[in-house]
Formats: sequence, C-alpha cells, structure tokens
Amino acid sequence: HIEFRDVVKRFGDNTVLNDLNFTVAKGERVTLIGPSGSGKTTILRLVMTLEELTGGYIHVGGTPLQYEDQGGKRVRVSDKTRRRTTTQIGMVFQHFNLFPNMTVLENITEAPIHVMGLSKAEAISKAEGLLEKVGMSDKRDFNPSQLSGGQQQRVAIARALAMDPEILLLDEVTSALDPELVGEVLAVLKDIAAETDISMLIVTHEMQFARDVSDRVMMFDQGSIVEEGSPEKIFSDPGHQRTRDFLHAVL
Ligand code: ATP
Repeated sequence: HIEFRDVVKRFGDNTVLNDLNFTVAKGERVTLIGPSGSGKTTILRLVMTLEELTGGYIHVGGTPLQYEDQGGKRVRVSDKTRRRTTTQIGMVFQHFNLFPNMTVLENITEAPIHVMGLSKAEAISKAEGLLEKVGMSDKRDFNPSQLSGGQQQRVAIARALAMDPEILLLDEVTSALDPELVGEVLAVLKDIAAETDISMLIVTHEMQFARDVSDRVMMFDQGSIVEEGSPEKIFSDPGHQRTRDFLHAVL
C-alpha cells in the first residue's frame, strides 16, 4: 500500500534518510521508533508530500507520488487530476493544527465540502457522527482555543477521518499534551484501529500504545532501519544493542 524504494532525503548536506526500503501493507499498522532526529517525522512528511524526495521512489496505492509547482506551492499531481482514484491520506500532527478561526464543526466539514464536494448537509451529518466517535459532540460550536489539548487533538483526528482516508499518518500526536490528557487521545485511536481497516504509520513515544495497536515496529537510527518485527519481539527481545539502549532510555 505504501512502498519506499531506495528513498534518499537530504536537507543541504545533512542526509536524513539513506537508501530506505520498506512497505506497509493495506490495513497494516506500523510504528516507527528511534532517537530524536533519526528521520521518523521526515518519513511521514514525505508520504504526505509535505517534503520532496532527494532520490528513490515512494508509491502509494501502486502509483508514485508526484509533485508539481502550482503558484509556488508543490502539490501532489494525482490529487488534482485523478482525485477519485487517488488514495486518501490523513495526517494528525503533534500540534493539532486546527484552523483557529473556525468552529470545531467547521474544521471537520471544510475539506469534505471544498475538496470532496459534499453538500453542507452531508458534511455536517458526517462530522456529527465523527464527533460522537471521538466524544466531542457537545463542543461542536466551540472554537479550538476554548478546548484542552486532548480535546483539540480528538477534533484533529475527526477532521482527518472526515476525508475517508485509507492511510492515517500519526506524528507524535500525544507529545504536546499534559500527561493526564494522553489517555483520552490514545483511547480514541485504539477504537479507530479496532473498528476500521485504515493503514496506519505511527510515530510515537508511547510504547504501550505502540504495543497495543501495531502489527509491526520499525526501529530507526540515523535514517536507516536498525531492525523490525512484531511489537512482542521488538519490545521484549530486541536483537540489536541500539534498540535495547533506546528502549532502556524511554521505558
Ligand atoms: P523527533 O523524534 O525529534 O521528531 P525525528 O526522528 O522525527 O525526530 P526528523 O524530524 O525527521 O527526526 O528530523 C531528522 C533530521 O532532519 C534532523 O536532523 C532534522 O534537523 C532534519 N530536518 C528536518 N526537517 C528539516 C528541514 N525542514 N530543514 C532542515 N533540516 C531538517
């Protein structure tokens, strides 16, 4: 479903990803772990086409990601020309990134109306269902600034799901939250993992969450995969000293 082939990413002369090869199957949940700066966020941003490749290919749903200049902005060509057949990718960021001048409901209906072409009534009905799923129905007319971090993040998850993604990218979605708010966000994500077959590529420091939802864990260091395996294997019986050192530091 997602395929990285010989992927190289450099920022200037800093090589962040070095000939990276991996695949994520349809419906699979893969968690990326590894030290700060090892390139995990860059991988998600590449899939989301927020960054350009230096070398290699990324295929999503069998087609290569392609970019094009549009008024100074790089956009994914297939998003524009073949929307109906393009794999939808949703991303949830560390810092929520909700639209500050819109209500909760408007945050969720914006893309379905303007990108998917849903009617306002259809988009609202869909958003209400998603707000219920993430436990935020009573806040539909609030502004993001009136919500806790955990509540904002649950709205961000609903917003990502509103586009019916086949792939969900989760980038340290609990790292900016107060500890007591982490659980409510992870609980929502666990439900979504259990109830859907959305493929997930997850960067997290929450190792218990990674254990609970992942089919596979990949340990990164300096832009390469150190080892990968089931969460049971990686967390209980890692094969590499670098993985043991990393887990020792974070657990
Ligand atoms: P963390 O856990 O701290 O988020 P990470 O594994 O996600 O770390 P990345 O954020 O992918 O790591 O960063 C990998 C490397 O790429 C770092 O050395 C970082 O400084 C560099 N980098 C990331 N984005 C940029 C950018 N826009 N310009 C220049 N360098 C960048």
